[in-house]
Amino acid sequence: MRRKIVAGNWKMNTLLQDGKDLAEAVKKKAGQGLPENVTLILAPPFTHLAGIKQILPDNIGLAAQNCASENSGAFTGEVSAAMVASTGAEYVIIGHSERRLYNKETDAELNKKLKLALSAGLSPIFCCGENLHEREKGIHSEVVRKQIELGLADISEEEFKNIIIAYEPVWAIGTGQTATPDQAQDMHRFIRIQLEGMYGSKTAGDTTILYGGSCNPSNAGVLFANSDVDGGLIGGASLKADDFLAIANSF
Ligand code: PEP
Repeated sequence: MRRKIVAGNWKMNTLLQDGKDLAEAVKKKAGQGLPENVTLILAPPFTHLAGIKQILPDNIGLAAQNCASENSGAFTGEVSAAMVASTGAEYVIIGHSERRLYNKETDAELNKKLKLALSAGLSPIFCCGENLHEREKGIHSEVVRKQIELGLADISEEEFKNIIIAYEPVWAIGTGQTATPDQAQDMHRFIRIQLEGMYGSKTAGDTTILYGGSCNPSNAGVLFANSDVDGGLIGGASLKADDFLAIANSF
């Protein structure tokens, strides 16, 4: 049975103490019970990772929001995958649309990041998704197909088993405009079929594919009810412990 995951991408929000308080609140509410087979993951800013690791119980995962595409050296301001792992984090978000857009991250660079993350023992949460223009032109499937193919190039089936996919239509991120349950299911199905071609039906069937884009406590239930939607990557609503937990309890 594939894992259900609800991951909170805090983006560039919360000062250190606010982040610790939020992690404490999530821990407390999660301790009151979660649906079976649901894992929570928190992705705070880099500066918070080591401190928040001290707070979280073993059953709540910790993720960085990015890592460098180089191993080490003269790359001022960068944080390597191994450094992320050394904080105790187990996951890293790679290829978020905000990084693809603002930091001009290319498919080739993301492929390097995925490989470095895997070598560091991290489980990448690899994001893909089309923008509004691409959706309106009807080329959304083609865009996502290419992101998956190039992003996962030369990654073996054994390595891929550690990767979580997040489908995040860019037009739905932070806009309040959510994909319909059918749009989400269609794309998740499409992604799983592509993964079947790359890694076989067993591995594709075991892959967790998250939906992201204005997911909140009111719409999570209908999105997660789809057979190929295995949870969510949550931005805005992950900054409130009550909302984040309500989303996790929507399964
Ligand atoms: C995200 O940034 O990954 C995201 C899904 O954001 P939001 O939930 O705020 O749309």
